[in-house]
Amino acid sequence: MQHLMNTYGRLPVAFERGEGVWVWDTNGKRYLDALSGIAVTGLGHAHPKVVRAIADQAGRIIHASNLYQIPEQERLGDKLAALSGMDRAFFCNSGCEANEAAIKLARLHGHHKGIEQPVIVVMEKAFHGRTMATLSATGSRKVQAGFEPLLSGFSRVPYNDREALEHVAANNRQVVAVLVEPLQGEGGVQVPDEGYLRFLRAICDRQGWLLMVDEVQSGMGRTGRWFAHQHAGIVPDVMTLAKGLGNGMPIGACLAHGPAADVFTPGKHGSTFGGNPLASAAALATLEAIESEGLLENASRVGGLIRAGLGERLSGVPGVKQIRGKGLMIGIELDRPCGELVTRGLEAGLLINVTADTVVRLLPALILQPRESAELVERLADLIATFLRAEALAPIAG
Ligand SMILES: *Cc1c(COP(=O)(O)O)cnc(C)c1O
Repeated sequence: MQHLMNTYGRLPVAFERGEGVWVWDTNGKRYLDALSGIAVTGLGHAHPKVVRAIADQAGRIIHASNLYQIPEQERLGDKLAALSGMDRAFFCNSGCEANEAAIKLARLHGHHKGIEQPVIVVMEKAFHGRTMATLSATGSRKVQAGFEPLLSGFSRVPYNDREALEHVAANNRQVVAVLVEPLQGEGGVQVPDEGYLRFLRAICDRQGWLLMVDEVQSGMGRTGRWFAHQHAGIVPDVMTLAKGLGNGMPIGACLAHGPAADVFTPGKHGSTFGGNPLASAAALATLEAIESEGLLENASRVGGLIRAGLGERLSGVPGVKQIRGKGLMIGIELDRPCGELVTRGLEAGLLINVTADTVVRLLPALILQPRESAELVERLADLIATFLRAEALAPIAG
């Protein structure tokens, strides 16, 4: 560890294997994985279809270069287009890279329209990544502090606030796009009002702005639809994906619809690894399994069971403010910082996460079965209730 840069405060545990929603650490202790490596392993660990696709592809060709045609990448583009209604995809290796592509696309689109200093509207509490452009787009001082000068060309409004965006529309002629998470993940699993995304679609249409949705966390079936914006019945101009796309094989995508799909021309953007045969094969197998195993329906149903179960167990417990989310993207907001629940979860054999200081976040695999979800509810409700009770007894802690 002394030879690793100090970018993470790592928990003292290492996992050596996994199967479905279960993982085992190097001491043989078993954990229920309710985090999926932060929304990555949607099919759980060691899914046979993904394992086979990776092994088969690795035995044929792992990497070729985007200087050549890549049939696996083309098939993946076709499949994602069919599922999303988008027209074209650019493949990269991560969420921040997918958002970098979207930001470059929006700026280029602006320049084509004669706007020389294009502005992208972004949201408070948004998270878009850690590269310079995406941390500048991110709405968190913690992410940005120390990395100034930030990139210019972003205008920030509160999430879920229609008036603030109308104000920008009335006052800023340089705006070319809105970049938004359909549900905010790192910001604390924030679910906007019914109709907010339709409002965004309408204002973007009216103003000639691109609507760019960051589905890096909320996409790939996580909320019970392929992509979370589909709950609102809209089609964005640009959508970014990563996390769950390759079930752990690093791959990201920036998809575009309509005129936005033709903004990039050769030489304007690229990636050495992006969409290579191995990553594309893993993503194709992931999409196929989500579809053939009915995992969108499962995510809705089991997510509902978890929210209802937690509601039953925790309603009326002082300190629990709200249980919210969609499908298997779930947040439990407490009235106090609760980071230590992560360590307590580890001790209890449960992998969870805390985001935005006070929100316990669950991102279990889409294959989670009702029996496993009941166990998750049981263990987590106990952890939270015990934590809140102990805090009440010793209010100096935390
Ligand atoms: C995780 C995340 C990113 C960044 O993805 P990386 O692969 O870590 O670069 C961007 N946007 C959202 C919404 C995310 O949740």
